[in-house]
Amino acid sequence: MNIRVGLGFDLHRLEEGRACILGGVTFDHPKGPMGHSDGDVVLHAISDALLGAAGLDDLGTLFPDTDAEWKGADSAALLAEVVRRLGDKGWSPVNLDVVIATEGPRIAPRRAELRARIGGLVGLDPADVNIKGKTLEGMGALAGGTGVAVQAVCLISK
Ligand SMILES: [Zn+2]
Repeated sequence: MNIRVGLGFDLHRLEEGRACILGGVTFDHPKGPMGHSDGDVVLHAISDALLGAAGLDDLGTLFPDTDAEWKGADSAALLAEVVRRLGDKGWSPVNLDVVIATEGPRIAPRRAELRARIGGLVGLDPADVNIKGKTLEGMGALAGGTGVAVQAVCLISK
């Protein structure tokens, strides 16, 4: 069996009046991630981890934010396309581990939902999708819920 690892990182500002969609799950929060697409920073980091593992560049290259076609795009659909492209090369995800760092919406109470939703999108059992919420300890530019930073690592095999 051939296995490879990939790493993804993404960062979006939280703005008033934007829908707060993280990991394909809608959070009840007054601010949501800004972005050319729906701003789902969690799915972007996961997409980049998968693309990185397969050596397929990154999300920005595949779906340029200068391209009107992707304006307001559903990040779940972009991730599905990423998984399809990996599949074309014979790769399938083995597991994901994700850190969501924010002082905006609380991640921990929604963890089971996130695992199920993301697992459904990438074709993994929820047990193989780990989600960790982190606060920023009140430090740096993300303190006080001004944004969300996400790191994702994944293993793929064929
Ligand atoms: Zn992004």
